[in-house]
Amino acid sequence: MLTQNHRFRDIERAAVYLQPEKCVPPPAQDSMDKVWFIKDGCGIACAVVTWMLVFYAEFVVIFIMLLPSKDIIYSIVNGIVFNMLAFLALVSHFRAMITDPGAVPKGNATKEFIESLQLKPGQVVYKCPKCCSIKPDRAHHCSVCKRCIRKMDHHCPWVNNCVGENNQKFFVLFTMYIALISLHSLIMVALHFLYCFEEDWTKCSSFSPPTTVILLILLCFEGLLFLIFTAVMFGTQVHSICTDETGIEQLKKEERRWAKKTKWMNLKAVFGHPFSIAWLSPLAMPDQGKADPYQYVV
Ligand SMILES: [Zn+2]
Ligand SMILES: [Zn+2]
Repeated sequence: MLTQNHRFRDIERAAVYLQPEKCVPPPAQDSMDKVWFIKDGCGIACAVVTWMLVFYAEFVVIFIMLLPSKDIIYSIVNGIVFNMLAFLALVSHFRAMITDPGAVPKGNATKEFIESLQLKPGQVVYKCPKCCSIKPDRAHHCSVCKRCIRKMDHHCPWVNNCVGENNQKFFVLFTMYIALISLHSLIMVALHFLYCFEEDWTKCSSFSPPTTVILLILLCFEGLLFLIFTAVMFGTQVHSICTDETGIEQLKKEERRWAKKTKWMNLKAVFGHPFSIAWLSPLAMPDQGKADPYQYVV
């Protein structure tokens, strides 16, 4: 009998569907194909907008608020903090975008591969009919990436990539640093408004007062919107890492088939072994230790 979980999986399970002869081997890859980049117009546009919004915030923070300020120490400290966080946010975004999230090799549903699994009677392997691959447990097919992704959480157009086993750290850092620069810019806007109300408006910015107000209000909206959005996303991601249940598994209420681990072990599986400052660095590729062998047979 099919369980709830089996009914929900986007796969075909019976042996009759496994027609390895229909799976043509994938074409030979050229060097450009080795760089993971999803050619999706909507995703590319969202990714470009993300970068432009960060640069807009940079512009307002530096040219409207920090450079005209008379308090040099305030400007230097806030300038360094804001630029560092913005740099880390953009590096996290870039790495989340160009890191293979854990794609299952295309077209591996070949006769040889299935035979190599040495299936016993009653054992089932899952084949993705869309990308002709035998997918490991917890992998799902993404229709944008056109691949099966291991531990796929969701496809995020803002990073133009799936969030999966290999790039979740970068995605979590991206949401965290965007939330931090949003909060930081909101605090600076509030302080700047207070300062300008006390001082002469013409002296608190090198731009005209109306331009200054419009630019600051736009930054305020941007900061609020992205603070809420990324803080919620960050919380959701950390929760799903701690409970070791991906967004898709929560959505589909999939039955847990994998071993339960402690929250700390789950965090280390995403951010790397052992705990270090590298957890906060998007420049460091997480050392995920000895990864669990991929389970093809259910
Ligand atoms: Zn697939
Ligand atoms: Zn995807």
